[in-house]
Amino acid sequence: MTSELRAHQPPCRFCGAPLRDTFVDLGMSPLCQRHLRADQLGEMEPFYPLHAYVCRECFLVQIEEVVPPQEIFGDGSYAYFSSYADSWLRHAAQYTELVTERFGLGQKSFVVEIASNDGYLLQNFVRRGIPVLGIEPASNTAEAALRKGVPTLVRFFGAEAATDVAAEHGRASLLLGNNVLAHVPDLNDFVSGLAILLAPDGVLTMEFPHLLRLVEGNQFDTIYHEHFSYLSFGTVASIFARHGLELFDVDELDTHGGSLRVYARHSGRELPPITPRVARLLELETRSGMRELAWYASFGERVKETKRKLLEFLIGAKRAGKSICGYGAPGKGNTLLNYCGIRTDFIDYTVDRSPHKQGGFLPGTHVPIRAPEELTRTRPDYVLILPWNLQDEIMEQMSIVRSWGGRFVIPIPEVQVR
Ligand SMILES: [Zn+2]
Repeated sequence: MTSELRAHQPPCRFCGAPLRDTFVDLGMSPLCQRHLRADQLGEMEPFYPLHAYVCRECFLVQIEEVVPPQEIFGDGSYAYFSSYADSWLRHAAQYTELVTERFGLGQKSFVVEIASNDGYLLQNFVRRGIPVLGIEPASNTAEAALRKGVPTLVRFFGAEAATDVAAEHGRASLLLGNNVLAHVPDLNDFVSGLAILLAPDGVLTMEFPHLLRLVEGNQFDTIYHEHFSYLSFGTVASIFARHGLELFDVDELDTHGGSLRVYARHSGRELPPITPRVARLLELETRSGMRELAWYASFGERVKETKRKLLEFLIGAKRAGKSICGYGAPGKGNTLLNYCGIRTDFIDYTVDRSPHKQGGFLPGTHVPIRAPEELTRTRPDYVLILPWNLQDEIMEQMSIVRSWGGRFVIPIPEVQVR
């Protein structure tokens, strides 16, 4: 058991119990989206502890908030633009079609998305003539949304923002947030805001990576400072219930290595009815061991073994005289590279389709980021795919790598050459 005595035991961000039990300790790491320019490489770089705990009362897995969110999202340098991943755009279009039909959305509806990024999702509702509002904390992505014709408010979401938006624009018939719940430092304030902004007969959907899949798939690299909470369906049901929201349905999705899309409405309403999928998933989580501390405590050792195996492969490849490059510059890549200590001693550079990232350097490891064309110029023997959740899409787009005998390396759940 990894329970330990710490002088400082911060409270669980949901239930307030002191956090004593380690889920996994990934050492010290820089902020994953803080890419560097060439002229910053000689400067001191802040590293913060990347240590995930599990709460023994509510089983919320979480990392301590070591960096204020304003520092992560607020200064305009946040480099993540959703529109650069094709599969994510398709996912957004399919979602729009699904909910528009299921919940009968139309010109009288009001769709609000929290953390709407560059408007990649809401633009689908705009095209259908459905009124929307995006709420997005990063000003540079919000500006990109406005250019697409997606009305967007630059603001962090919580109870106060919800009250203001409800007063000014009315309450939401559909309120949604994808990959935001995990990024919220004050969970209770955020979820109480959801209840405030949701219309009495409104529907709420949230997508987040499923902790069950993180553990089963050994996806420790999805743990980073920007990602405060790691959520099970059961824990989310408790958090929502405390704020008067009831989960009535859930979809299991393949996105981000395995996500849940939960559907909620105000508690005490009859419609939409609760589907059998809700009880089934709660039961699956219980059977898997997610309501017992031991399940969480065994994860750390598996992570260490994954690191050893990846390094073993990389050392062997370099000793055999092979060249290795990376593909992608996602947040998860930085956790992986920093935790495993993989720098330009193993990978010469990485490539990314986003022009916002090209020319920069990964935080901590200082691996240079180039355009994908660089691969055809240098013809590496191995391409290490950092956003492994998009591996099929990437191997298809970059199939040219095979023309010179290059192979793809997938690091997670354990190293694999394809
Ligand atoms: Zn707790």
